[in-house]
Amino acid sequence: MRQVLKNTKRQLVVSIPVKMDGGEVKVFEGYRVQHNIARGPAKGGIRFHPRVTLDEVKALASWMTWKCATVGIPYGGGKGGVVCDPKSMSRGELERLTRRYAFEIAPIIGPDRDIPAPDVYTDEQTMAWIMDTISMVRGHTELAVVTGKPLALGGSQGRAEATARGCLYVVREACRVRGMQLRDARVAIHGFGNAGANFARMVAAEDGARVVAIADSRGGVLNAEGIDVQAALRHKAETGVVERTPNTEPVARDEVLEVDCDILLPAALENSITLANVGRVRAPLIAELANGPVTPGADRVLFDRGVLLLPDILANAGGVTVSYYEWVQNQYSYFWTEERVKETLEQTMQTAFAGVHAAAERHKTDMRTGAYILAVGRVAEATDLRGIFP
Ligand code: GLU
Repeated sequence: MRQVLKNTKRQLVVSIPVKMDGGEVKVFEGYRVQHNIARGPAKGGIRFHPRVTLDEVKALASWMTWKCATVGIPYGGGKGGVVCDPKSMSRGELERLTRRYAFEIAPIIGPDRDIPAPDVYTDEQTMAWIMDTISMVRGHTELAVVTGKPLALGGSQGRAEATARGCLYVVREACRVRGMQLRDARVAIHGFGNAGANFARMVAAEDGARVVAIADSRGGVLNAEGIDVQAALRHKAETGVVERTPNTEPVARDEVLEVDCDILLPAALENSITLANVGRVRAPLIAELANGPVTPGADRVLFDRGVLLLPDILANAGGVTVSYYEWVQNQYSYFWTEERVKETLEQTMQTAFAGVHAAAERHKTDMRTGAYILAVGRVAEATDLRGIFP
């Protein structure tokens, strides 16, 4: 069983020729990996980033398997990536790259096979292009082939903020368990993309927390009294960066991980907290809004120090959970209200938190191991029941 679960079911490597605006052709490399489909079709985002590698996509695909099993949604795990620098490409170049990539992976994706979604530097427009490309190839509109689509194209209410909202629900549970107040709690957020920015907005507006530090890929800002999150969002929308947000002091990007705070949200990329900097991380509660932001070595140090860490496969599972609701709505062509999405997500996240917490207590271990005990158990049970064919 260990051998079965640790191996990737299917990996596709594609080469993507794209006509650039200057007339030349550039060839990009892309991947789509299906780690496991024992509990349902593969599911997981597509990442556009200059440092994407096949090994990274394999790791991200396997995290999706465990994530879907942790929250109990009927999917396996998949992930895609294209090695490119989207920030230096025009909209036209990105559209051509996306469509050719979608065409190349078309043979292995589909509503009952593998359903992509947004991830780092892809968004609802990327999903609209993929949906359209696959629909053109198949000769009919295939809404459920991707999730995270725009509302006008079969997207779901609440999907855009779902990763952050799901995290907020489990952070509330963690505060309850630890007897901590979220009101006025000092929150630091490392990463200001879809997940980090929405988390900052909601934790300030809905829970009255003080966001004391934020960083994006370029740099960070601080204000111990609390950053005006709306001002930071406006500043980021206007200038593309959080640096120089009004009423903040500058700080190096990765120092945001080390500021004095009550709750830390690593919301950027993998390997942000390592043995090199974990000694300076001061938060007693950490929720992994990114995938894989804490290395195994750093994880042990945090656990030994009594830090409560909510692992990625629980803390950021709200995104794929609302993707699941989107896929369900697409299949029965009946759309839910935002209230229904939020309530169902809250129930799912609370149940998942309770399950993980109970498993961790029962086995006297940390929340990550608790989540893996649940998730691996569910995937192993499905694998066992299905058996091996042929
Ligand atoms: N990319 C997101 C994740 O890592 C969402 C995946 C999805 O919605 O399928 O969980």
